Amino acid sequence: MFVTIPRDVVAAAVDRAAAVDGVATATLVGTERPEESVIQVWGLRDLRPAGAPDDGDGSADHRSAFTPPDATLAAAGSVAVGDGPDATGPSDGEPTVRIAPVPEDGERTGETVDVDGTTWRVVLDGTDGPPTEGGDGVAIVHAERDARKRIDGLVDTDALADRHVTIVGLGTVGSTVAVELAKSGVGNFTLIDPDRLEIHNVVRHECGVDDLGRSKLDAVADRIRETNPLASIETAAVDVTERPGALADRIAGSDLVAVCTDTDPSKLVVNRECLAADVPAVYGGVYAGAMGGDVIRVVPGETPCYDCVLGDISDDMARDERVSGEADYGRDPDDQPGPEPGLSVDVGFVSLIQTRYALAMLSGGIGDGDRALDRDVCFWGNEAEYIFDRPLQSRFATVSYREDCYTCGGTGTLSVDDERGAETVLDGVTAVDEDPRPGGRD
Ligand SMILES: [Zn+2]
Repeated sequence: MFVTIPRDVVAAAVDRAAAVDGVATATLVGTERPEESVIQVWGLRDLRPAGAPDDGDGSADHRSAFTPPDATLAAAGSVAVGDGPDATGPSDGEPTVRIAPVPEDGERTGETVDVDGTTWRVVLDGTDGPPTEGGDGVAIVHAERDARKRIDGLVDTDALADRHVTIVGLGTVGSTVAVELAKSGVGNFTLIDPDRLEIHNVVRHECGVDDLGRSKLDAVADRIRETNPLASIETAAVDVTERPGALADRIAGSDLVAVCTDTDPSKLVVNRECLAADVPAVYGGVYAGAMGGDVIRVVPGETPCYDCVLGDISDDMARDERVSGEADYGRDPDDQPGPEPGLSVDVGFVSLIQTRYALAMLSGGIGDGDRALDRDVCFWGNEAEYIFDRPLQSRFATVSYREDCYTCGGTGTLSVDDERGAETVLDGVTAVDEDPRPGGRD
């Protein structure tokens, strides 16, 4: 048997034991992985003096700051807290964890936690000392201290933990962006998507068959928590083209919006709302058959808006004749949702570039240092088509403000006099000429 237990659960148990003046016991709640003899403890409840009857009113209920992926917490064993040989807890065959103070001159073997100047040792009954690799024992999880150890220095982990990213669209691109941002330490998410996970999603999506039929919001939220259990996550089942007004409040509280929908109308809706809220955004798009894609960053007042970029791509970058791609990544021929061509690995390059842009924008790493991304658009080619000379090629562009931009009029901002309302933004779609990108809007 191997038990993982968060440090703050141990500290809470010690605090409660002090409150009851002596040896106390409690029920561990967590997730059992019986096939591997592992118990993941997420909290404890019913802390009471040893021998006291379980009258069911044990109000001492502590949950770890961790949010377990599975919200159903089963009783997973017992914990006994206190001094001496009495601190053995109930023993009816269920796993028992013992938490006892280490004498000042005692040997600090095994897992220990310092609480109020005293060192406490945590031991799984029947074992002593530190857990051995592959063997029985207890591991204390120091989430705050250890979770980001291997990315410290590469990104500003403290800053990212405070950042709030709204992700619109949780398909192949959006789910990867969400998980990768969580891995990089982003601490606050708002997820927006109206759909459930379907069978044709799973060959590319971060979520798999275990999540079939679940809302993408819940499924992706679980993936984020698996990576960053301290993350704060809000969700909204909203189709942004149907309810553009529903975006305003959610975007207003964000540091960045990652736009991962697969249609330009939806991106134009988000573009307008981001300009209105003065919030930066980064757009990811994948070409037909996932032969490539592009990532576009928009900072209100500093760069052209997404609508400007669309027009600029049409006017300037269309000079290249090598446009290919009959298939449409985002829609099937009947414009109905359905399986879309494109390998996960090919879409993944675009998702990861979008994530790198997002991290640079969140941490101020634009145009400064080795990791600078100082161009507005990154084009990525998986194949030697369109504007790409060879496979796996990136090209960058800086775009111009477009005076006939329906959304911003070439200002890169939304005028405070603009009273057209979010629902009118799509009126201007026809102002953009044919999009030359493979699978682009025409
Ligand atoms: Zn514009």
